[in-house]
Amino acid sequence: MGSPLDSLFATSAATPDADGRRIPVLLPVALDQTYDYLLPADIEAPPGSFVLVPFGNQQRMGVVWDRSDQGGKSVDSKRLKVVIAVMDVPPLPALSMRFAEWVARYTLSPRGMVLRLMMSASTAFEPPPPKFGVQLVGEPPHRLTPGRQRVIEVARDGQVRAKSALAAEAAVSTAVIDGLVASGTLVDVELARPRLPVPDPDHVTGSFNPAQELAIHGLQASVDAGSFSVSLLDGITGSGKTEVYFEAVARALLKGRQVLILLPEIALTSGFADRFKRRFGAGAAEWHSSVGPAERGRVWLAAASGEARAVIGARSALFLPFSDLGLIVVDEEHDTAFKQEDRVSYQGRDMAVVRAHMGNFPLVLASATPSIESHVNARTGRYRHLKLGERYSGQLLPDVQAIDLKTDQPDRGRWLAPRLVSEIVTNMGKGEQSLLFLNRRGYAPLTLCRSCGHRIQCPQCSAWLVEHRFRQRLTCHHCGFHLPIPEKCPKCQTVGGLVACGPGIERVAEEVRERFPDARVAILSSDLTPSVKELREILGQIARGEADIVIGTQIVAKGHNFPGLTLVGIVDGDLGLGQADPRASERTFQLLHQVTGRAGRAEKAGRGFVQTHLPEHPVMQAIISGDREAFLDREIQLRQAAMLPPFGRLVSILVTARVKAEAEDYARLAARKSPPAARIEVLGPAEAPLAVIRGRHRFRLLVKAPKEVDLQAYLKAWLDALPQPKGDLRVQVDVDPYNFL
Ligand code: ADP
Ligand code: ZN
Repeated sequence: MGSPLDSLFATSAATPDADGRRIPVLLPVALDQTYDYLLPADIEAPPGSFVLVPFGNQQRMGVVWDRSDQGGKSVDSKRLKVVIAVMDVPPLPALSMRFAEWVARYTLSPRGMVLRLMMSASTAFEPPPPKFGVQLVGEPPHRLTPGRQRVIEVARDGQVRAKSALAAEAAVSTAVIDGLVASGTLVDVELARPRLPVPDPDHVTGSFNPAQELAIHGLQASVDAGSFSVSLLDGITGSGKTEVYFEAVARALLKGRQVLILLPEIALTSGFADRFKRRFGAGAAEWHSSVGPAERGRVWLAAASGEARAVIGARSALFLPFSDLGLIVVDEEHDTAFKQEDRVSYQGRDMAVVRAHMGNFPLVLASATPSIESHVNARTGRYRHLKLGERYSGQLLPDVQAIDLKTDQPDRGRWLAPRLVSEIVTNMGKGEQSLLFLNRRGYAPLTLCRSCGHRIQCPQCSAWLVEHRFRQRLTCHHCGFHLPIPEKCPKCQTVGGLVACGPGIERVAEEVRERFPDARVAILSSDLTPSVKELREILGQIARGEADIVIGTQIVAKGHNFPGLTLVGIVDGDLGLGQADPRASERTFQLLHQVTGRAGRAEKAGRGFVQTHLPEHPVMQAIISGDREAFLDREIQLRQAAMLPPFGRLVSILVTARVKAEAEDYARLAARKSPPAARIEVLGPAEAPLAVIRGRHRFRLLVKAPKEVDLQAYLKAWLDALPQPKGDLRVQVDVDPYNFL
C-alpha cells in the first residue's frame, strides 16, 4: 500500500511525453502571473483544476488558469516543468477566477495572493480521514465478561457507532471493543460522512409589521428578478432587520441558490447562528477565524460542491468557491471590521458588491447606521433604499442627553460626572441594568512621572504604554510589548512618583466598584476575557439580567440584545473625534448611536448620557437630537466639498523601514516620480501619526483622485517604474484606506 497521499492523485506523472500540453497555472504566492506547465497527455486538468506542481525546489498546489501570461513568451516546451498531480476536489469556478483577477487589480495585489485567500482551507485538499465505526453481527457468544455484556446490550440495536462512543455508552475501555472485534462479534463499518444540515425556507414563517412587509416585498422582488441589485436595509436598532433579510434568504434558498451572510464580528455573534437555526430549522455553515482546520476544509468543499446552502461568515467567506451563489447579505455594513488591512487589503463590503455584480445576483446591505458611502448610493438611486423607522417592539429609541464635562465635572481622579452617577443610582433603584461604555482597554492610557515629567513610551513604537492593572503590566497596544508596572521612574529613578493618567475601562470599573459596592458588575473587554467562549458566557449573563452595571469597550456595540438594559452612559464621547481620519465624525456617530441604541430594547424605555467636552459638535448634536438626516446632509456636503470618499477616492502608500532615512528617502523619491496627471493629487510624504511601530519608521503618501479616474492604472504605472525596494524597506498600498494612523 502506498501513502495516503496516493489516493489523492488521479495519476502520478513520471516523464512528459511528446503530447504533453501546456497549461497556465496560478500559484498562491506573491506573484501576479501564471506560469506554464506541461500536462501529461493521460491527465485531464480543465481550467480551475487544482494541481500539484514543482515550484522552485518545492511542490506547491496551484490552479489551472484559463488565461496564460506566458503564452506568447514561449518558454521552450522542453524546459517546462511537468504537473505532478491533479487534486481530487471540485475545480475553482470561472467566476472565482474572474473575481480573483478583479480584486487583485483593484487592490493592486498580486493575483497569487488573492488566490491564496481562496485556498485557505488546507484540509480540503487532504484525503478525508476515514471514519470507522463498529456494528454487532450475528449472535454473541455465551459467557461474556460483564463489560462485554454491556457492550452487546448497547450494540444490540444494530446501529453503527464510533468505537469511542460505544465504549463510553457501555462504560468500558476501547480495548474491550477491540477484543469483541477480534473475536468477530463486532465488525468495523465505514461511517457515512455527516452531511451539512439543509435549511428549510419554510421552517418558521412569522408575521410582520407593515414596514417590515414593505421591506420584505422589496427584497423578495430583488431576489425574484434574479439579477444584480443592491438594497440598503436601513433600520433603527431593534427594527427587525434580521427578520426581514431572513425572508430574502428564504426566497433565495427556495430558488435553490446558495446564500452568504457576512457579519463583522461573527465569533461573538453566537446568538446569530441560533437565530438562523430557529428560522430555518437547520444551522448554516460557519466560516471565520475560530473555525478549526477540519471544519474549514469541510465548509470549503461544501461551498464548492453546492452542499452548503447557506454560509454565515466573516469577510473572508467572500472568497469561498461557491458553485451557485445567489444572494449576499452584509449585516452591519458600516462596520470597519469588513476592511482587511494586511496582505491583500480589501473592503469586504465593497468586494461583496463586486462579487454580486459578477454573479448577477442581489445584495443586501443592512445597518442601523449605514456608511456615508451607502447613503450616497441610496440617495443617488444606485441602491434601493428600504427603511424601517420603528422598533419592532414599538419602543422608542432612547432619549439621549449630553453631559457637559466643562460644567458637570467629575471629582478629581474620577471619570463619572455627578449627574451620570445619580442617574445610575436611580436606575439601579428601579432594578434596571446600566451600561458604561469606554472604548479604551486597560487601566490608564499614560503613565507619567510626577517628579521629572517623563512619560513611559514603548521602546519600539511611538506610543505610550497603557497600564493594565489587572495584569500588572504596561502594554503597548501596537506591538504587544509589555513590562511589569515599574516602582520607580525609568528616567529619574524617583520611587513612588509614577501616576496613571486618564481612564481606561479597568479604571472606570474601579470607580464603579467603589461607588456601587453592592452592584453586580460585568466587564466586557477583549483583553480581560480573551476567550470567545468566556465572552459569550458574560454576554449571556448580561442578557439574563445577572449584572446591574455592565462596563464595556466596543465589543458591547455589536448587535447584542440586552433586554434589561435601560441606561447607557458614554464615558468619553469625544474619544474618536480627534483622529486624523476623514471618517472620524461618521465613525463616532455610528459608535455612539449603536451603543446608546442598546438601551431600552424590550418593554422599558431607554435613556442615554454622553459625557463630552464638545456638546455643540455636530456629532453630539445628531446623537442628542436624533436628527440623523441633518448630520448626514452636513457630512455628505463636507465630503463632497473636500472630494473625499465616496466622491473622490483615496489610496494610501505606506513606506516603512528600520532606518528612518531609508523610509523617508524612498517615500520622497516616490513622490518625485509620481507622473503628473491632471486630476490626481499626490500628497506627502508625511511622517505617519504613529511614526514608529515595532521599530519601523513610517511615512505615508496619500493619492487622491475623482471617482471616474482609473487610479489603479495610474498607480501601477507609477509604482512599477520605481526602483525595487531593497533590504527591509516595505511599500504597502492600501486602496480605499480606513486607517490613517
Ligand atoms: P435589528 O436587526 O433591526 O436590530 P432584530 O431583527 O434583531 O432587529 O429585531 C429586534 C427584536 O424584535 C428581536 O428580538 C426580534 O426577534 C424581534 N422581531 C423583529 N421582527 C419580528 C417579527 N416579525 N416577529 C417577531 N419578532 C420580531
Ligand atoms: Zn510598541
